[in-house]
Amino acid sequence: MTKQIMVGGVPIGGGAPVTIQSMTNTRTDDVEATLHQIRTLAAAGCEIIRVAVPDMAAAKAVGKLKEESPIPVVVDIHFDYKLALEAIAAGADKVRINPGNIGGADHVKAVAQACARRGVPIRIGVNGGSLEKPLLAKYGGVCPEAMVESAFGHIRLLNQYDFDDICVSLKSSSVPMTMKAYRLMSQASDYPLHIGVTEAGTVRMGTLKSAVGIGGLLALGIGDTMRVSLSADPVEEVYAAKEILKAAGVRKEGAELVSCPTCGRTRIDLIALANEVEERLKAVDKPITVAVMGCVVNGPGEASAADCGIAGGVGEGLLFKKGQIIKKVPQEQLVEELFALIETL
Ligand code: SF4
Repeated sequence: MTKQIMVGGVPIGGGAPVTIQSMTNTRTDDVEATLHQIRTLAAAGCEIIRVAVPDMAAAKAVGKLKEESPIPVVVDIHFDYKLALEAIAAGADKVRINPGNIGGADHVKAVAQACARRGVPIRIGVNGGSLEKPLLAKYGGVCPEAMVESAFGHIRLLNQYDFDDICVSLKSSSVPMTMKAYRLMSQASDYPLHIGVTEAGTVRMGTLKSAVGIGGLLALGIGDTMRVSLSADPVEEVYAAKEILKAAGVRKEGAELVSCPTCGRTRIDLIALANEVEERLKAVDKPITVAVMGCVVNGPGEASAADCGIAGGVGEGLLFKKGQIIKKVPQEQLVEELFALIETL
């Protein structure tokens, strides 16, 4: 089992539930817009939010964000240790920074001590695209072994100052490389792991790559917190993360839709029906499985493992609960009846 760190009040690792993270894409110093996005993401299911801190204005905004944010705030900092010190003083709950890139031992010491004083953990975020040149030379290019060695190099810098409140990510845009790097890291250490595939792409391809990479790691028991990176509204990242957690069987919260693939027996517009039910289920946080099936002959039986569901027929369909038919319903009332039944579960 991994060690546990605390990000604000949220535990990561040590058997805690795998948490969902996302990142705002507003200007961090635009406090109103950023808070609006944080609230939207939190309402969608995001549990920890990261904001970019590219300059002092952003670092100074962290205090105001912290006052109002409903979830812990992680600051993402590259190269400039002063930004880290400012953001930590402003109340950041975690810092994503690579100590090897912040300009020498004094700077690392200052950040490690500031974090230690406030109980703020650091995420070391190794990215396959920005590995240190000596490692690239040693390994002949980017590879999982080089990524893991990079992580340990950063960890050692922090350990020199007795700082070990660390979690690690090893992201690459290649799914196999990402997965191997995390597997190696989980064998070599017990630091909690923030998993994700970086620059994954647009909603469709990015979700698929993340589902394979993150979902594959979760299925192997690896990963303590996750971010799906998408070139999209970040709320899509949160939805994708929730679906991946559900599909990997890691989390039972929230409703899961199962729907049949349709076949020659289908006499209703099942695809539209499934999409409508899926959309409405986003607002249901009960740990239930809901089936939308294409025919009344096989549907209730095939979906008997679901808690409830509907099966479409000609002009009317069936409402069922655990495979048992409850009643016939006119087709246009199927969805309403289904959600009325869900209310009672
Ligand atoms: S539930 Fe009915 S319509 Fe859907 S695949 Fe099975 S047999 Fe075909």
